Amino acid sequence: MRGVVDRAAVKYAKERGAELIKDFAKSTPEMLRVTVSQAIEEGWSSGRLRDALRENYAFSPVRALSIARTETAVARRRGGKDTARAAGAEQKHWQVSDDDACALCMNNQAAGWIGIDEEFPEGDDPHPNCTATLSIGPKPEPDDPDGDD
Ligand SMILES: [Zn+2]
Repeated sequence: MRGVVDRAAVKYAKERGAELIKDFAKSTPEMLRVTVSQAIEEGWSSGRLRDALRENYAFSPVRALSIARTETAVARRRGGKDTARAAGAEQKHWQVSDDDACALCMNNQAAGWIGIDEEFPEGDDPHPNCTATLSIGPKPEPDDPDGDD
């Protein structure tokens, strides 16, 4: 499953084009896109991608890490969503880790399960450096003591 998801993430990263990446690197969108695609394809850590961005594009360390985290997370979320939709999933849920809980992501998480093609309250890619993940699938059934379904 991981391999499938990652292939979808790579596909997404390649197709994503300059549209969003231009926010980070107006002068080198194509080169940056290739590097991010390669990083996902080969399973680089954010740290390794950060180092590559620093060396190849002379980004500052902070900016390189921001791009590495943001682009990897976006590609994984989009790729995972595409894969899950193809498998019949209809719902998604924003999930943050405890050390990554900004207000935007907390709002998205608080929205609970929403339709897979709906947009979260703060957007599906709310901010740079966002490493939140998506849970995708059928909405979990609440505990039903009557069991009448
Ligand atoms: Zn966040």
